[in-house]
Amino acid sequence: MHNQPTETDQGVTMTSTAAAAALQAMTAKGTETMTAIGQRQLSFFDEGIQEHSGIWGSCLAQEMGHKSSGVINRLRDLGLFTTSPAGPDDDSDWWALTALGAEVANTLAAPTTTTTENTTTKENDMTENTTAKKTAAKKAAAAPAPRAYKVPKGYEVKWQHGGHDLLKKADADAKGPAWYTACNAHGDLHEAANAKEAEGFGVLKVRSTWCKGDHKPAAKKAAAPVKAPAAKATATKATKAKAAKTTATK
Ligand SMILES: [Zn+2]
Repeated sequence: MHNQPTETDQGVTMTSTAAAAALQAMTAKGTETMTAIGQRQLSFFDEGIQEHSGIWGSCLAQEMGHKSSGVINRLRDLGLFTTSPAGPDDDSDWWALTALGAEVANTLAAPTTTTTENTTTKENDMTENTTAKKTAAKKAAAAPAPRAYKVPKGYEVKWQHGGHDLLKKADADAKGPAWYTACNAHGDLHEAANAKEAEGFGVLKVRSTWCKGDHKPAAKKAAAPVKAPAAKATATKATKAKAAKTTATK
């Protein structure tokens, strides 16, 4: 890697100028995406968060809930990804991190990050805070409910998601397919030839076609609002009281 982060006396990792510029140019959704990647919340990236490690573009967009390809295309345009066209067995381009993309993702995921002073603005800090909160909330919402499935002998849980997990054959001598998709709520397993296919079977719409369980209550539950932290609730109450007072005075 050419853009090695340097450690300051305080142990704070300073980002390179190129990474600082990319961070500056990113949209809130782009920042959210790169943070999630840095925090290892997405599937794939088997080689870790480094150059050449990647994911299928369709999975990236799907897991981040992007409704258009605009967000991820912009990340590529900023030089954070390279794409290689879909092969005959794939239905989506493969997206690989560039060295810069890996640096940006790791910077965003680091507990304390700072960019060079000139390029850090208050606005950016706010975006990062909001992103961190959102990501934390998302993580909490997707927090593992108890898994109903049993891991077949010779397999390991490779990727965990909210509603489905991907199990990979760990023991080459084990009988069965290379991958299984598991419905976490009901324990049904579906055979898959590769990780991409397994991921496809995990999508709720597809999962409900092969899993015999009822998926409606789970979907409803997932949509339930997350409890606000106590401090925040108190603050909101105070603000509301103040507002009421102001109205009463009028
Ligand atoms: Zn199910």
